[in-house]
Amino acid sequence: MLHGKEETVILGGGVTGLAAGIASQGLVLEAEETPGGICASYYVGARSGKIYLQTPGHEPAFRFERGGGHWIFGGDPAVLHLISQVSPCQRYTRNSAVYFPQWDLYVPFPLQNHLAFLPKEVATKALAEMVARTGQLAENTTMDQWLASSFGPTLCELFFFPFHELYTAGLYRAIAPQDPYKTPFQITSVIRGALGLHQPMGYNQTFLYPEKGLDHLVRGLASGCRLRLSSPVSAIDAWEKTVFLEDGTAIPYQHLISTLPLDKTLALARLTPASRPDPATAVLVVNVGGVPGKHCPPYHWVYFPHSHSGFHRIGFYSNVVSHFLPEGNRKKFVSMYIERSFLPGDLPQGETLAATVQAVIQEATDLGFLKEPVAIHWNTISTAYTWRWPRSPWQQEAQNLLLENGIIPAGRFGRWTFQGIAESISQGLFIGALSAGLDRLLKNNRQL
Ligand SMILES: Cc1cc2nc3c(=O)[nH]c(=O)nc-3n(C[C@H](O)[C@H](O)[C@H](O)COP(=O)(O)OP(=O)(O)OC[C@H]3O[C@@H](n4cnc5c(N)ncnc54)[C@H](O)[C@@H]3O)c2cc1C
Repeated sequence: MLHGKEETVILGGGVTGLAAGIASQGLVLEAEETPGGICASYYVGARSGKIYLQTPGHEPAFRFERGGGHWIFGGDPAVLHLISQVSPCQRYTRNSAVYFPQWDLYVPFPLQNHLAFLPKEVATKALAEMVARTGQLAENTTMDQWLASSFGPTLCELFFFPFHELYTAGLYRAIAPQDPYKTPFQITSVIRGALGLHQPMGYNQTFLYPEKGLDHLVRGLASGCRLRLSSPVSAIDAWEKTVFLEDGTAIPYQHLISTLPLDKTLALARLTPASRPDPATAVLVVNVGGVPGKHCPPYHWVYFPHSHSGFHRIGFYSNVVSHFLPEGNRKKFVSMYIERSFLPGDLPQGETLAATVQAVIQEATDLGFLKEPVAIHWNTISTAYTWRWPRSPWQQEAQNLLLENGIIPAGRFGRWTFQGIAESISQGLFIGALSAGLDRLLKNNRQL
């Protein structure tokens, strides 16, 4: 079936694609039956365990997010203003920690700035190592080398190496460091923290969250778009400037914006850059609501250097805001998301996946976080964290190849870069407006 020609087509109805759709008024094609992508919310009935896409009127329900708690950090103030206009937000101060099971000890995040919380001999040794660090690293440094040179052997063995082993599914010994932004290092802050004079630091010290939930923001953005749901794209013919849907529909376009993962867009367009592709890791997000255990902590999220079942972070939706919990039962329950990373090819399936989820929930119960699970649901995100090999040209080469073929990549996964919601929305707005503006400009130029 041939669809009429579109000025702009946008692949993916996550927050980047929706923002691009608003700015360009192009057609947004989304594979799933709801918009929002990894930021989409859903509800699990507290009595029936049924999944709902909207608040069910007839039973209390837990609200979960597909990719685990999504808190809006950073971002251009003008974009944050726009977000708050679409969906009024509250600002929260981050309350997160690292958990050391051997001491049953929580140390506020970031660890390097809170040495005073560690046993004295460990803190003294770690401080001496960080003060003595030499700094200078070669261009092809790997993440483990960067961690070792920044934080020294004591903190690396205690936290950074085992945590990154879990978080990067073992890749941290081979990939380039990405985290100076996520893992800040300033020796003055380290010394102040060792003396118990810590200051807030890091990329997400405060964050915004919509008063009516992230789904309210997503619905608001989607209402400004021409959105076609349940429309998975199966191929791109860049030469003929046509997108094909799985149902056989062909949609000719003038401009194409893709928010799909960079490797996926290349594959759909049958384009292959010369260099070795950069890696990504997948994440299993286990959403659980239930009766809290005796040791359920008050933090927004907790990082784990060790866990038997392999998770690296547990976040607590309801410690940020109670409206994630079923109405009428808010004092009785807690809700949390547990994240476990995999190499994409190792993502478990079927019974193995169910057993992995069971093990993760059992460990949260053994830790005393959960007494009785009431609602359980899980999602796998096959491209969750994107990484680069040291000095890899792939990401740039891949983006250039798409641009040469008239496809504009956008968003965290589309550009294979670290990016939060606010930045993704900024980029979507910018690229959407650019494509609409370019179109007008070219038409005007033809009339000159
Ligand atoms: C585990 C995790 C936690 C995060 N936590 C935070 C946080 O707390 N705060 C924050 O600001 N950011 C966070 N982020 C980042 C944030 O999720 C992203 O910046 C943002 O959601 C990116 O949106 P997007 O629209 O670019 O991508 P996506 O949400 O992935 O949207 C892409 C869309 O494309 C669709 N699609 C895929 N294939 C096809 C196809 N063939 N045809 C049509 N459609 C298709 C998908 O269904 C999806 O809807 C987190 C990311 C991860 C992985």
